[in-house]
Amino acid sequence: MLRIRGKALQKIIEQAERDYPYETCGLLLGKIDRNVRTVFGAYETPNKNPDRKHDRYEIDPRDYMRAEDKAREFNLEIVGVYHSHPDHPDKPSKFDEERAFPDLSYIILSVNKGKVTSYRSWELVNGKFVEEEIYIFG
Ligand SMILES: [Zn+2]
Repeated sequence: MLRIRGKALQKIIEQAERDYPYETCGLLLGKIDRNVRTVFGAYETPNKNPDRKHDRYEIDPRDYMRAEDKAREFNLEIVGVYHSHPDHPDKPSKFDEERAFPDLSYIILSVNKGKVTSYRSWELVNGKFVEEEIYIFG
């Protein structure tokens, strides 16, 4: 299950709409307790994909490390990744699934004509993405 602070979710939604028609991406900073990930903040990372920003995203390892440093400052860790699907549903692609890591949450936002119309969170279970419940707090 994913718990996310309302302000963090709002930031992600605004970022996804701003970056349309390209995929936006970033990291979720929070805490993990068993299988519950609690997100307190969103760390924006530039989409480093060189030529397919409309349907692929890439996070630079250096940005990942910066996000880790930021998280540590607040006694948090990276608990997930978020990205958008411009004019596509909020379901992971095969590509998303192949590159995912266990123990992280993956929020995918569907952005249609510049507006976020839905979002869902996914976690890897035995190599397959399974939808997880999102609980908004704060
Ligand atoms: Zn995707």
